Amino acid sequence: MPDESRAADAKHVRQHPLKIGVSGIRGVVGEFLTPALTAAFAQAFGTYVGAGRVIVGRDTRSSGDMLQHAVHCGLLAAGCEVIDVGILPTPTIQIFTGSSGARGGLAITASHNPMEYNALKLFGPHGLFFNHYERAELLDIYHESAFKHASNDEMHSVRSDRETPVRTHVERVLKLVDVEAIRARKFRVALDGVNGAGSELSVHFLRDVLGCELHAISVDPMKPFPREAEPKPEVLGDLSALVRDHHCDVGFAQDPDGDRLAVADETGFVIDNDEVLALAVDASLARKTGPVVVNLTTSAVIDDVAARHGAQVHRTPVGEANVVEIMTAVGAVIGGEGSNGGIIHPGVQLCRDSYTGMALLLDRMQASGKRMSELAGGLPKYHRRYGKVGFQHGRLGTVMQTLEKAFPEAQIDRQDGLKLMLEDGWIHVRSSNTEPILRYAAEAKTAARADDLLAAASKLLR
Ligand code: MG
Repeated sequence: MPDESRAADAKHVRQHPLKIGVSGIRGVVGEFLTPALTAAFAQAFGTYVGAGRVIVGRDTRSSGDMLQHAVHCGLLAAGCEVIDVGILPTPTIQIFTGSSGARGGLAITASHNPMEYNALKLFGPHGLFFNHYERAELLDIYHESAFKHASNDEMHSVRSDRETPVRTHVERVLKLVDVEAIRARKFRVALDGVNGAGSELSVHFLRDVLGCELHAISVDPMKPFPREAEPKPEVLGDLSALVRDHHCDVGFAQDPDGDRLAVADETGFVIDNDEVLALAVDASLARKTGPVVVNLTTSAVIDDVAARHGAQVHRTPVGEANVVEIMTAVGAVIGGEGSNGGIIHPGVQLCRDSYTGMALLLDRMQASGKRMSELAGGLPKYHRRYGKVGFQHGRLGTVMQTLEKAFPEAQIDRQDGLKLMLEDGWIHVRSSNTEPILRYAAEAKTAARADDLLAAASKLLR
């Protein structure tokens, strides 16, 4: 990132120690995200979804146990029955919420945010993320303290069930692939579980279920995250070394709540996330073709892969909920978001799931007889560049117009900011959902053209 961009970020981006809003509740544990506040929010959740079963699970953050008790307390006070699944990945919690007849579910996780943060992810009865409207309604209940106060004879208890969610998740993923053929290959796999919620399940899944020779690091849920939580290539050096030291066929890395996946090839090289998604899409379409849904910032490599299978690609605004909504509308067979390592298969659950990704990629290697580097190398090559700039209120319209005028030949998509589609690439500018910044990205078939497009966007946006 150029220095000027860094300076702009430092000036405009404020880290919120506590945020209660339509994206839920997230904060630094201790002074800000307190048990009282968390219990009240859980009671609002219980009031909104109604008396009935609610699924609760968490990641491995040290604040998880404390917040879990606060969540239980709030839900019980609203007359809910709590099924606690303990430490499990977010997709596992979502699957169980959707398959157990629950009223809703809560995952206590701040995902890829730093260790000192924690948050609540909120799911409806199908295990899908609350939409904007539902979150606004919940927020009203919370702010007005319009809680249901269960009476003594409306009180329920907390039950534990860790086995059913794990079994259901694994069963669903196995249906997507040729399990016996994967087992027969005895793949040598490296794993970096970031000591996260997936640590135990990932070892079980890769070693016991898929018969891999597993070389794992950071799979102790009692220990802190040993690296930056987001599985970006620059923090996965230990995974790359593990792959090389043990001559592995592939390396996998997860984020703390197990929805995101990063992949290293057999040389230890960490594959671009858009290419990982493209390989998963290819693997999935090879078994069953149909519509594909990705966000506007995901690489055009998805279009090329889909075209090979005669499949149509639909593009959505950035955000898992947007992708899931359109996947449902068009009956998609696979979807996801490139840059953040999210692979979504409706046969498992309409959510990002790292286990679906691992299984599809192992299946692809097995079916093609190719190494991971050959699979990635067989994809059409695109180059992407990313930038961001501080958001100045009221300037967005002017900026977008300037950009459009600079590329009069471009096809335009205005679903999420502005995307300019050119003969040999694209530029996408949008305001972030979570920070007061404009994000922009450019893609082209050559590195030089991608640099030029990003530079052009960068110049016009400043
Ligand atoms: Mg996550």
